[in-house]
Amino acid sequence: MTSSAKKNESLTSVHLFSIVSTPFLITHAFSNSSCGGGAMAREKFDITNMKLEDHNHQEFIEYQGDDLFEVKNYFWEYLEDAISKKYYIYGNPLTTAPVPEVKAYDRYTDSVRHYLNFSSYNYLGYSVHPEVIEEVQKTLAKYGTGAVSAPLFSGYYDMTRTLEEAIADFKKKEAALVFPTGYSANLGVLSCLLKPGDVAVLDILSHASIYDGARLAGADIKIFHHNSPRHLERVLKGLKTKRVIVCVEGVYSMDGDLADLPRIVDICRKYGAKILLDEAHATLIFGENGRGVAEHFGVEDDIDITIGTFSKAFGAMGGFVAADRKLIRFLRVSARSYIFSCAMAPHTAAGILKILALYANDKSRRIRLWENTHYMHQALTDAGMDIGETKSQVIPVMVGAEMRLWEIGRRIYEKGLLTGVVTYPAVSTKRTRLRLSVCADHTKENMDACVAILKEAFDEVPV
Ligand code: PMP
Repeated sequence: MTSSAKKNESLTSVHLFSIVSTPFLITHAFSNSSCGGGAMAREKFDITNMKLEDHNHQEFIEYQGDDLFEVKNYFWEYLEDAISKKYYIYGNPLTTAPVPEVKAYDRYTDSVRHYLNFSSYNYLGYSVHPEVIEEVQKTLAKYGTGAVSAPLFSGYYDMTRTLEEAIADFKKKEAALVFPTGYSANLGVLSCLLKPGDVAVLDILSHASIYDGARLAGADIKIFHHNSPRHLERVLKGLKTKRVIVCVEGVYSMDGDLADLPRIVDICRKYGAKILLDEAHATLIFGENGRGVAEHFGVEDDIDITIGTFSKAFGAMGGFVAADRKLIRFLRVSARSYIFSCAMAPHTAAGILKILALYANDKSRRIRLWENTHYMHQALTDAGMDIGETKSQVIPVMVGAEMRLWEIGRRIYEKGLLTGVVTYPAVSTKRTRLRLSVCADHTKENMDACVAILKEAFDEVPV
């Protein structure tokens, strides 16, 4: 084993995940040994036995064959086996807007089918709001389809600047910086601020973009048990450096639970650690004014850096960081995922500005979202489902072992329900789950139908 593999192994056995803005989610982690530098060479696969039940995705990610591309042959056979069993239900193109009932192509019937959609992050339905669409169309006609330049050159538009000011205002921070995606916001901020020898202290269930930003910086990554202030304190107590940032999420993207911010903030202050809070799934949903879980707990002033994304409740695309003015100025000319990537399209910025204005005047969508969220928590619990510790519109329905996930996933898909069917690299293969995204526009009939399909599928595939 290489020395970096040993080092990675010693960190902890978990995680870095990613991909969530795909229609079929998957958020986080990878075992650390799989993430760059630490991958272990494995014995060769047997090409005559690439059955799904004998392997898992992680093995392919970690595989180091003699040839860089060798893995593709094994993975091809493995996936063909999954497809022959109708277990592979990812990446089917939608042919309608991402609303509660959609149409999507089904590779198994080679047709476009109707589905109940509980897998889009269109929590407040803004992606199809007529006034947002009108605003986007107007801007599109005037500015064209893209920013077509990096932001420090000519990729920065009047509405991008207005959006940054509006976000800073909304988040009650001095300034904000808009990134092309939420992923690049975390990546850019952490990789810019941390150096080798610095420490990123991460909740084990942190999003891949947080892990990746810290890794790119070459910082030491220390992990604390999920949402455990006590373990966080133990980790901080043992550190020799003051150059430390603790990263947590307001709403955890695969579990839907909330960071215990009051206690986490106290501990960070006690040890002088900075705090980065990712409010990707919480913005517009938590807190009296929708600023997120920090507002909900009344600890906004204790958060040094807030990250957000426009790909969830905003129904658009892009990310942001909000912090003090001097930090934002430094990041604007130093964060590499910002300066070396094409900027957000002007029409996207205009659409988001419209959403902020609509949101300020009308919280009815948010009220409906919360009614639906409570309804689904109750209905799923009454149906005997394990929904973990969720406190939000992000609802995991725990499945367990991967083979059971494939069987249940195939069944719900055939019955016409889209949810996240989540395993590695988003969660460990032993803690697989379906992941539901509840939206304001789901009707009671949609929700009842969803629960009925789930119940049927779970009953058909007992543990
Ligand atoms: N942070 C968290 C907590 C997320 O869940 C996600 C995506 N789901 C991101 C960051 C990345 O956001 P984006 O999809 O906008 O890149």
